Amino acid sequence: MNDLDELLLRLKMDTLPDAVENLLEQAVKEDLNAREILMRVLGHEWNNRRYKGTAARLKQARLPWVKTLEQFDFSFQPGIDQRIIRELAGLSFVERNENVVLLGPPGVGKTHLAVALGVKAAEAGHRLLFMPLDRLMAALVKARLENRLERQLQQLSYIRVLILDEIGYLPMSRDEANLFFRLMNRRYEKASIILTSNKSFSDWGEVFGDHVLATAILDRLLHHSTTVNIKGESYRLKDKRKAGTITRRVPEKQEVESSN
Ligand code: ADP
Ligand code: MG
Repeated sequence: MNDLDELLLRLKMDTLPDAVENLLEQAVKEDLNAREILMRVLGHEWNNRRYKGTAARLKQARLPWVKTLEQFDFSFQPGIDQRIIRELAGLSFVERNENVVLLGPPGVGKTHLAVALGVKAAEAGHRLLFMPLDRLMAALVKARLENRLERQLQQLSYIRVLILDEIGYLPMSRDEANLFFRLMNRRYEKASIILTSNKSFSDWGEVFGDHVLATAILDRLLHHSTTVNIKGESYRLKDKRKAGTITRRVPEKQEVESSN
């Protein structure tokens, strides 16, 4: 091992020993000056570190699949205000510990958009966790049984962006709703939640089996939040519709509210 490789390893520049000879050779060919060479070499290490960090965060996130905003066809869902989604993709809501709520019927892209915003957050260095409601509930109930609910809530509150998917598909018991409330309380104004639901807020009393609790949950969720209400058609049924098996519904206008 030569002195340069040794030094790079001591500096924990793991990706450079393999790459540095090529980078320097290329730099000489391009007649770069000293500053440009330094930029090129350090830039290589930085890009690789960022890439590895993002990959590790995405692995920990337990996403159902990775989809990006670039893969989202906004022309299929003309009701969605693209500016709002682009603004969210800038992640200032994460910096401000605000929430995002995506509402709409099945198949309109709620999970896709939640995942895509999560990918942006992971790229920007934020810790991320995706939890469908049933998995969240199972984790909290199990933690309580094992006398470690506090620790579990604490762990969940460290995660910078928590995606809670599919609120409303299954009704919750009062006990589960209480656990959910405790989580919301923990994260309130401390870290962001991206939540998806097929139920409008007026139905949340039924979802949580208790109107007072539902109001308290909504209060914390919506205090600093952006709600995107998608009223379009299911993307999953798109091909069936094309084939003529389903008739087309007239898309309604979609509403976006932001409250701060
Ligand atoms: P929801 O969570 O609202 O039920 P999903 O986000 O799971 O819907 O979307 C269903 C499938 O359709 C996913 O594979 C998703 O990537 C895709 N999809 C939904 N809407 C769009 C869109 N506008 N452009 C591209 N793919 C979409
Ligand atoms: Mg979904």
